[in-house]
This record gives sequence, C-alpha cells and structure tokens, in this order.
Amino acid sequence: MQLICPQWLLSMADSEAPLENQAVLIDQERIKAVGPRSELEHLYPNAKIMELPNQVLMPGLINTHTHAAMNLLRGAADDLALHDWLQNRIWPLEGALADDEFVFDGSVLAASEMLKGGITTFNDMYFFPEQTVRAALAVGSRVFAGIIAIEFPTRYGNGPDDYIKKSLAARDEFAGESTVHWTVAPHAPYTVSDDTFKRLGLLAEELDLQIHCHLHETASEVTDGISRDGLRPFQRLDKLGLINERFLAVHGVHLNTSELEIMAQKGCTLVHCPSSNLKLASGFAPTAQALDLGVRVTVGTDGAASNNKLDLWDEARLGSLLSKGYAGNATAWPAWKVLKSMTVDAAAALGKDHELGMVKSGYFADMISIEINDKAHQWPINNLVSKLAYSGHSRDIVNVWVAGKLVVDTQQLVGKAADLEAQTIRKAHRVWQTRIEQVS
Ligand SMILES: [Zn+2]
Repeated sequence: MQLICPQWLLSMADSEAPLENQAVLIDQERIKAVGPRSELEHLYPNAKIMELPNQVLMPGLINTHTHAAMNLLRGAADDLALHDWLQNRIWPLEGALADDEFVFDGSVLAASEMLKGGITTFNDMYFFPEQTVRAALAVGSRVFAGIIAIEFPTRYGNGPDDYIKKSLAARDEFAGESTVHWTVAPHAPYTVSDDTFKRLGLLAEELDLQIHCHLHETASEVTDGISRDGLRPFQRLDKLGLINERFLAVHGVHLNTSELEIMAQKGCTLVHCPSSNLKLASGFAPTAQALDLGVRVTVGTDGAASNNKLDLWDEARLGSLLSKGYAGNATAWPAWKVLKSMTVDAAAALGKDHELGMVKSGYFADMISIEINDKAHQWPINNLVSKLAYSGHSRDIVNVWVAGKLVVDTQQLVGKAADLEAQTIRKAHRVWQTRIEQVS
C-alpha cells in the first residue's frame, strides 16, 4: 500500500476548497482511504509514503471525445469546412492508410500526449478499436473504446454488421482488463441507417453501455436530415429510442431549446468540443443554455486532425469562455464547473461516477498531481480552483496514476511506455509522414 501526501488535495468529492494535511491511501488499483495524514499514517504504519510538496492532487481528467488514431493526421487537413475536410481529405487519407498499424501508432501518440497532460481516461471512436485498446494498455491509459458503426465499407470491414461483429470480438478479448471499457459508437446520423441505430440502441441496453455519437455538428447536417427524413436528426434518434441517459451527443452545436430540454429531462450528455467546432467553423454550441436547463456538459478534444491539440485544460477553459461570451453572461460555466466537466461530470457521462472522477475511498486510483512551482504563470494563487480552471496547463502535470499505477513520473512516461513513445515518434516522422504525403 502507498500513502500519497500532497500539499493540497482537491478530491472533487464534496467541498470546493482544496484541503491541506490530507493523504490518500492506494491499495492495488483502488483508493482505500482518504483523510487526515496523521490519522492514516497511524492506521497504516507500513504504507510507503510518497511526498508531493507544492503539488495539488486531484482526479485524472476524462476526455469525453477522441479519435486517438487521428494523431497521425495532425496538420494533414487544415482550414477546411467539415464537409470538405471529411470528404476530400480525411476519408481519402483514411481509405489509403487507416489499418491496424496506423491505429495502433496514432493511438500510442495520442495516449502519450494525453497522459502527460493529465488525461487518464479517453472516450474514443475509431476503426480497429482493438488497436486503440492495445495502445492504451501499452501506454497506461484508461480507455472507453467504441463498438463502431458506419454504413460504408472501410479497411476495417465491409459494413456495420462486420464492424459490430469485430468490435464485439475485441470486447471479449479484453474483458479481463479493468482499464478497458466499451461504448456503442454509431458515427453520426448522416452516416448510419435507422436499422443500425436501432441495433446499437438495443445492444447498449443489453450490454449496459453508453452511446457515443456525433450529433448536430453543423447546420447543414440538420437541414439535410430534414429534407431526407422529414425530421431533425435529434428527433430521428429520439424516435429510434436512442435519446436516453446513456446518450452522449458529441458537438450538439445546432441543438434547439426543446431538444436541450429533452436532453435534460432524459439525463443525456452534451460533449462540447470547442476547438474543433471553431476550427471547422461549425458554430457555437449553446452550452450556457444547456447548463441552465440542467443538461450535463462535458468536454472533448476531438481528434488531432481537427483541433490540433489534445489538451483538456485548454478545451475546458475555451468552453467556459465561449459559453460566457456567446450567452453574454460572465457567470456562465464558472471555475468549479469547469473542473467538474473534466472529472465528476465526465465520469457520470460515461456511467462510471461510482468509481471514476473523484479521489474517494473505493474509487479507482486514477489521479494527477499538479505542481504549483515558481513559474510566473502560477502566481499569485488567490484561488486554487480558479488557478486550475483558467490558468491550468498540461505542462504543470508532474505525476499521473491510472488504476493505482504510476504511469507518468516527473513528467515522463514510465518504463517500456517511454520507449514505445520514443519509437513511435521516430516512426511518425520517418514512415507515416512519407505515407501521408504520398496520398496527398
Ligand atoms: Zn469527432
């Protein structure tokens, strides 16, 4: 057992005030106790002590929307609108390159980038999810992989039935891993049929999984949906039975008031990806209104091809600032809620708020420590919560634990993961860059 003794503890469990003189006892994968340091030292005299002077200990961050493999496409398609970006750049590149090797290497880069920035869990959607899982296991991250479905053939399979069959086999293969979880992940209303949506909705119920889907990302997605189906995509999914407490609506830029009311009533999540929405000029998601109506709002980076960073600190800060600016209300999405959107609320979105998102007894020991050092951007600390929410930065992360294991030690990946990261960076430079240029 190990006793972690930080300068400040921000458990996200109840109080907004960071506490001093606290300690966290880790036993294997989980947190066994949280409390006054003197008490825990007395109760567990044999626990190995780890001192974290000048550091805040808090739950690991949860990125609720990624396409990890797309790290290899960073910078390969910039300054384009979604339709052009997807149809003329991304799909041709993926058609030529996205195989199991591509997905593994891209996911290693993404998981490494995220872990070092304090993201312990990522909720992913991509082909060859088994390779993303392998990469997450090799690097040390917790992953929610998607049972992916899209209506057209790709290198992963010949259509939805094949994708679902292969993803389910991958789910079985990794069933014993406590850091591997699954969702059903229909790509979007404009790429998935009614039959496939219905099938995945039933599968989510049967296997008790969340539903991870792009929705109302652009205005044309909504108008095209109305001309094709006579319904807004949200109405169509609601009719098909998918809009429920399991549903994570990614983007939701063009949701109207009545749709937000239904989401609040049914306990759905709006996954806000502000950088991606701005970069693809998709618009401004109505997050202040969503929060006011009681919709759970979390944040996601989306993939590196449309962001192009995987930095959740940046993303949540931007989400909060846009929320205030767009609503003309400076009190919208305040600092404490910014931190919750990356921890407690994100865990609830993924159906795991009983064991993720807080530093609490019985929960998985997924934690990060953040240094409050002598760098100019850190001072003065009038308010630690505001400091983390508005001037927090991935470069301030010192240590990261996933399921009780130290996976980032003093800003570096540990052991074989560090070697894998270095090899994959070299390969991205020497091999993948050439392959991408050949397709372009
Ligand atoms: Zn996406």
